[in-house]
Amino acid sequence: MTLDPYALCPCGSGKKFKWCCQPFYKDIDRAFTQLRNGQDDAAKKIMEQVVQDHPNTAEVWGRRAELYWELDQRDEAERSLDRALELQPHYATAYLLRGMLRHEEGEIPGALLLYRKATDYFDPSAREQLAEAWFCVGQCEVMLNRPLAVRAAWQIALNLQPANEVVQNSLQKYFETQSPYPTLARKAWSFRSIAPDADPQRAQAWDKALGAAATGKLTDALRAFEQVTAVAPADADAWFNLGLCRAWLGDNAAALEAFDQCVSAELDDDRAGEAWALAEILRFGHGMEESCDWAERMVRYQIVDIQKLGAALKNDRRFTDLRQMESGAVGGVLLERPMPAAHHNLALFELPKLLAYVAITNNALVLQNGNSERLQQARQLVESSLGGAIEFREESLRAPEFVRTFQLLLDLRLPSGIADDLAAKLMREAIVQYLEENWPRRHLRSLGMITPLDAVGHAVLRRKVLGLVNFIDDLTHSYVPLPYNVDRLRHKLGLPMMGAESPAVVSGKPVDISAMNAAELASLNVDELSDADLELAMQTGRRLDASELAGKFARALITRPGNAQSPDRFTAFNHLIQLALAADQPEEALGLVEAGMKHDCEHNEGRRRNDYDLCGAQIYLKAGQPEQAHAAFCRLVERLPSNFDLLGKASEGMLRANRRAEAAEFAEKGAAAARAKGDKDRLGYFEELLAAAKR
Ligand SMILES: [Zn+2]
Repeated sequence: MTLDPYALCPCGSGKKFKWCCQPFYKDIDRAFTQLRNGQDDAAKKIMEQVVQDHPNTAEVWGRRAELYWELDQRDEAERSLDRALELQPHYATAYLLRGMLRHEEGEIPGALLLYRKATDYFDPSAREQLAEAWFCVGQCEVMLNRPLAVRAAWQIALNLQPANEVVQNSLQKYFETQSPYPTLARKAWSFRSIAPDADPQRAQAWDKALGAAATGKLTDALRAFEQVTAVAPADADAWFNLGLCRAWLGDNAAALEAFDQCVSAELDDDRAGEAWALAEILRFGHGMEESCDWAERMVRYQIVDIQKLGAALKNDRRFTDLRQMESGAVGGVLLERPMPAAHHNLALFELPKLLAYVAITNNALVLQNGNSERLQQARQLVESSLGGAIEFREESLRAPEFVRTFQLLLDLRLPSGIADDLAAKLMREAIVQYLEENWPRRHLRSLGMITPLDAVGHAVLRRKVLGLVNFIDDLTHSYVPLPYNVDRLRHKLGLPMMGAESPAVVSGKPVDISAMNAAELASLNVDELSDADLELAMQTGRRLDASELAGKFARALITRPGNAQSPDRFTAFNHLIQLALAADQPEEALGLVEAGMKHDCEHNEGRRRNDYDLCGAQIYLKAGQPEQAHAAFCRLVERLPSNFDLLGKASEGMLRANRRAEAAEFAEKGAAAARAKGDKDRLGYFEELLAAAKR
C-alpha cells in the first residue's frame, strides 16, 4: 500500500505522512507481515534494524512495543514503552498500549487513567485512534459501575467513527436492550441551558462552556463550568452542568459535591429531586463505597476442607437455591432458618429472612449482603456450623450492581408450590414493610446520617429525600416492575406525588387504609371500622411513628368481642402495654397483660401465653417486683427449657434486680443447654453471666 505523502500520517500525530513516519513505515509494515506469517525471528530482526536506524523516534519504539506484546514478551514491550515516553512524554500511542496491557492484567483503574491520558494527547485529527481510546475508557467504566461515564465515552467514540459497529452494539446493549442499569442511569443526560433572564456577562461565560462541550472536549467544558460556578455560586444550573461534566469524566466524588451545591441552591422541587436522584446513581460507582447507602458487605472465607463443606451444605436446609452460575461458581442464598412448607394462609413473619447471598468457587466461600446486620448473623451461623471446613480471610465493602439493590427491595424468598395470588400478596407486603417501615428510619449517608422521616422537615434535606424517592421509584420500574406504587411512600412522607390523588382515598372515600398518612388515619371514624380495618389502621399508625393514633385503634379493638377470623390480639395489647410503660404506668401495663392473657386463653387457645408472660416478667422487674418477675420467668422456662434467648433475658433481668442466686440459676441452665448443643459462643456468654452473678 502506498500512502499520499501529504495526507495525515496514520500514526495519529496530526503531521503529514512525509514529515512523520514515511522513512520507516515500509520496514515496520514488513516486520508485522513476517509476524503474521509466523516468522517471529525475521520480524524481530527487521524491527531491531529500524530501531537502530531511528533510535530517537517515539513512534518506532511504540511499534516495537506492539510487536513484542504480540510475541507475548511483555517485559520487552514495557521497556519499549518506557523509551518511547522518555523521548516524547505526551506520546499518546504509548498510553493507549500501556492501558491495554494493564487492562489485560485486570488492573482496571490503572488502565483507565492511561486511556484517559491517551484521549487527551492524541491529535484531534486522529479519529480512529481517539475512537479506540474512548471505547476502551468506556469498557473500564463498565467494570467500575459508572454508567454516565460509560455512555459519554462511547458516545464520543461513535461521534468520531459513526459507522463503528462495535461501539454501536455496545451502546445498544448497555443502554437499550439488555441494560443492567436503571432508567435514570441509561438516560442520555444533557446540559441545562441558562435561564433566559440571566445577565449578559454570565450568558457569555455559559456560551463558552457549552461551546467547549459541543466539540467533545469534556475537560475544556469542565474547566469552563468550574469558572462559571466560582463566579456565580448560587447558579444551581451551572452546578448541575459541572456535576454532569465530572460524572461523564468518571469523577463521581467530585460530581457528588457539585450536585450537593446544586440542590442547596435550587429552588425548584422537581429539578432538585432530579439532581439528587442522579447523585444517588453516582454513589454506586467504584470508589464510592463509603458514601453509598446501598453498599454491600462481603465476607470471604478460604475453603480448607471441601468435602466437609460439601456435606454440610447438602445437609443444612438453610442453604437454598444453590446452582451453578455463568461464572462457574456455585451461587445461592443462606436463610436464617429452613423454609417452611407452603400453606394457604402463610404470613410474612413465618418466612425466614435472607441472611446472605452465597458464592462458592474452587477455594473460597463468599457471603454478601447490603444489610450488614443480617450479614453479621450469617457470619455467626456459618462460622459455628461450618467451622473446620473454612477459614475467615477478609471482610470488605463494595458498591453493588444496581440490580442487587433492586433485589434488596424485594428481600423475600418463598417456599415452592405457593399459590400465585398468595405469593403476590406476600411480595407486596414485604415491599411495603421495607419501604414504609424500614427505609424511612434508616440513617442515610445521602442525608448526612439523618433519617428520611426526620429529613422531610428540613428545607434542603427534604429536596434530597425527593431525589432518593425518585431513585427508588426508578428502581421499581427498571427491571421487572414491582407491585408497589411509590406515591404511597411520597404520600406518607408528605412529599408531592406524581399522581393527583392520595393513593389511600378516592373521591373522599377511604380505599386503602395501609396507604394513609397520619392526617387521613386521624380522620377515620373508629366505630365504622371492621376489626380487620382497626388492626390495619393500628399497624399503619405504628409504621408512621404515630403511637398515640395507633393506640386509639388498639384501644377500640381490644374492647370488641372475640373474633374467630382474627383471634390473636397480642399486637394491640402489646402496643398499649408499651404506651403505658412509656407513660411510666406499670400498674396499667400489668392490667393490660392480664386482660390480654385472658382474651388469648378464651379465644386463641393460649397461643400467645409465652409472649404475655415475658411482657409481664419485664414489667414486674421495672416496677420493682422481682418475686413476681421470677415466678413469670420460671413458668416460661418450664415451657421452653432450652430457649437461649429466654434464659439470657431471665438471667440478665434477675441480675439487674440484684437477685444473684436466681440469676445464677438461669445462667446455669443456659450454660448446660449451650454445652449440650456444642454452642461455644453461647456457652461463653452464659459463663460470663454466671461469673457476674457469683461476684
Ligand atoms: Zn506518524
